[in-house]
Amino acid sequence: MICDFHLHSRASDGALEPGELVDLAARCGVEALALTDHDGVAGLGEARARANQLGLAFVSGVEISVAERGGQVLMHVLGLGFDDAHPELLQALERLRQAREMRAGRILEKLRACGVELDPDLLRADRGDVIGRPHIARALVASGTCRSVDEGFRQYIGRGQPAYEPSPGVSAREAIDVIHAAGGVASLAHPPRSLGADGPGGLEAFVERLVRLGLDGVEVQHPSHKRPQRKRLRRIARAHGLIQTGGSDFHQEGRGIVPGRGRGDIEVGEDVYRAITRS
Ligand code: AMP
Ligand code: MN
Ligand code: MN
Ligand code: MN
Repeated sequence: MICDFHLHSRASDGALEPGELVDLAARCGVEALALTDHDGVAGLGEARARANQLGLAFVSGVEISVAERGGQVLMHVLGLGFDDAHPELLQALERLRQAREMRAGRILEKLRACGVELDPDLLRADRGDVIGRPHIARALVASGTCRSVDEGFRQYIGRGQPAYEPSPGVSAREAIDVIHAAGGVASLAHPPRSLGADGPGGLEAFVERLVRLGLDGVEVQHPSHKRPQRKRLRRIARAHGLIQTGGSDFHQEGRGIVPGRGRGDIEVGEDVYRAITRS
């Protein structure tokens, strides 16, 4: 069974509609998948319906932004296999959606201070339900300010750049608690990318704190992980009995990442599906 438990659609910063994404995943041979948009579940209904039509196993998903200590600690927590109509979860996501809208406004102000005037309509035309930096980067390209999304990040909105604003987020405790309240499992996405994971005790101490808060899994397979990192993550997962989740983190075509395969270095099997769905 070819599985992918980390995929994005236009319900956050992906380029495909949820149904189109499921079609592509099916063409790529994926048999079980989770749609894991940032801070929103608006795409799940459409994705699930399409997966059902095509006979794919579908798992509800979300990638929740965590921000602590004023943005000095940032991480992404994947929720998988939850009830996506659960009120507590929906309330937390709605707060994040609003906070992201406010943050987009602050980024536009900072851009203005840099002499870059972005038409907010451009942003709206290109936005999913949850607005993130990729939407702003695309608007920078569409307005002719930058030549590429990557240049937008490097010159303006990436960390350390003049229009940077850290992502809003809930606490790690709240992310894990709402995922549990909705009946799902919580897995730390791409752990080495977490801001603050290189603190005292390194990745091990970072994950241990989350385990004490109830973390159920860590993402071991991710296109950004080098082989030694995967080995280290497997060791951490085994030490705490964590589910070893994985996925492509696919956002759009043409970037060398393929659903179910990543860059050819992702292989997530049925054991992970069973652990997530407790089947
Ligand atoms: P946000 O959550 O709004 O801070 O946006 C983070 C998202 O931006 C990530 O999930 C990636 O999809 C995307 N991203 C981060 N860095 C880059 C980059 N250098 N180029 C393109 N996309 C990026
Ligand atoms: Mn993204
Ligand atoms: Mn992420
Ligand atoms: Mn992601």
